[in-house]
Amino acid sequence: SSFSELGLSEWAVTTCSELGMKKPTRVQHHCIPKILAGSDVLGVAETGSGKTAAFALPILHRLAENPYGVFALVVSPTRELAYQLAEQFRALGSSLHVRCTVVIGGMDMITQAKALMQRPHIVIATPGRIKVLIEENPDIASVFSRTKFLVLDEADRVLDVGFEDELRVMFKCLPKKRQTLLFSATMTKELDLLQHSTNKAFCYMPY
Ligand code: AMP
Repeated sequence: SSFSELGLSEWAVTTCSELGMKKPTRVQHHCIPKILAGSDVLGVAETGSGKTAAFALPILHRLAENPYGVFALVVSPTRELAYQLAEQFRALGSSLHVRCTVVIGGMDMITQAKALMQRPHIVIATPGRIKVLIEENPDIASVFSRTKFLVLDEADRVLDVGFEDELRVMFKCLPKKRQTLLFSATMTKELDLLQHSTNKAFCYMPY
């Protein structure tokens, strides 16, 4: 199959080919149409499978139609992965002038709070830092009141570190009416519990 057959816009198909992505990987082939159709998705996919583009492309497709406030919150277990995610969002969204902000520990909190108040399209965060920012400033919590997508990348690792409390704080400031996308290298008991706790019917994509 091709990227245009998956339902992505012309600009996205062009960007993919410019980035040397000739055809969709397996996880992209299965997840992109589901995400475009509005489903919550639990994708079991490892690094190297093309999982980042599997969620970034449909998010950017929707964002191009109607950018509004912080459009997507992407949660990463580590700082390094957060930067890699931002890099891919910027590359895939280069024709959209997409504004991404990375919010991680070890960096200045005031600068991060100011960046969030500008309502970037995509916020990529580690759980600990975003929790503190939300709890310390009600204006930051309200930045996420219209967010359309929550992504947990490497969700098994996020849960393994025991970020349940951080996730609860995040969930509270996100609207109920949103899409939740969970990507994980392995299916774990904790992930299954999280899936059930959201009261959503996830499309399970084991690849
Ligand atoms: P990921 O699994 O998201 O960490 O992606 C691994 C690498 O594969 C990244 O460097 C992507 O740029 C690349 N990639 C993603 N999708 C494709 C594709 N359809 N064709 C070729 N390379 C891809």
